[in-house]
Amino acid sequence: MSTPRVSFEFFPPRNLEASFKLWETVQMLAPLAPSFVSVTYGAGGTTRKLTHEAVTTIGRNFGLNVAAHLTCVDATRAETLEIANAYADAGVKEIVALRGDAPKGATRFTPHPDGFSDSVELIAALADTGKFKIHVGAYPDPHPDATSPDADVVWLKRKIDAGASSALTQFFFEPETFLRFRDSCARHGISAPILPGILPIENWDGVKRFAARCGTPVPGWMDEAFAAAKRDGREDLLSIALCTELCDTLLSEGVTDLHFYTLNRPHLTRDVCHALGLSPEVALEKVA
Ligand code: FAD
Repeated sequence: MSTPRVSFEFFPPRNLEASFKLWETVQMLAPLAPSFVSVTYGAGGTTRKLTHEAVTTIGRNFGLNVAAHLTCVDATRAETLEIANAYADAGVKEIVALRGDAPKGATRFTPHPDGFSDSVELIAALADTGKFKIHVGAYPDPHPDATSPDADVVWLKRKIDAGASSALTQFFFEPETFLRFRDSCARHGISAPILPGILPIENWDGVKRFAARCGTPVPGWMDEAFAAAKRDGREDLLSIALCTELCDTLLSEGVTDLHFYTLNRPHLTRDVCHALGLSPEVALEKVA
């Protein structure tokens, strides 16, 4: 089994302390030679400027291939394409194109009257520019808006057909969840790469709250395992062991690329990569 190719997701910093954290995160993970890194876009476009600054600063200073996340929320089509064009002008070649979530307090995503009505429209418009490689989101556990068990796969096929070239999944807890989804995508004629989204668990209670918001079921055995690890103050060790095992199983099933949700906390991601045999030395050999 060869070492994986990796990519890392960061979020843009909102203050000076968070800027240092992001800098430390990128510095620690860049030597693992990620195929790309990505920077999220705050709900409702709240980090429009910060995302742009983080994307361009990381690209300039670390020489990494940076993908900018972009959503349809709270913006006209013209405004959204203006943001995309500013990325192209700054030399950014990859976009993670998303519909985005409903704003706080609302239960459903409602498009801006002059905005893109869904992710497929956004992807098609970005593809039309011919300026970007487009990644999209994918959901191994059903997305809360999915109308049937197959709906996410059918919709993903539409996103790929609209011009996306790869999909990054929401995090999940057990390898079977991803493998079943991958099989279903193949049955629906999706041949684009589907990168599993990997979340090293730093704070189990926080992850459970986030999972509930995303509609990701939490296995009972993990709850028990983290409760026991917390009693012994060994959560980090459990987290690294579980995440490494998850990645290992995926790699043994033919997965070649892993997309890590770093949450701007680099240590667990780095340790898992090292446990999978990907060190800065190995990464150097791979790119040479
Ligand atoms: P879509 O795939 O378009 O929709 C999600 C599901 O809803 C579909 O699979 C389908 O089942 C159903 N659906 C939606 N529209 C239709 C339709 N017209 N017809 C039929 N079915 C439909 N959010 C942010 O705000 N900022 C970020 O930076 C960000 N980054 C993310 C990165 C990744 C890798 C992922 C997986 C998610 C990210 N999110 C982010 C969260 C994302 O915005 C939410 O999950 C959102 O609810 C869905 O966005 P999407 O583009 O994946 O949706």
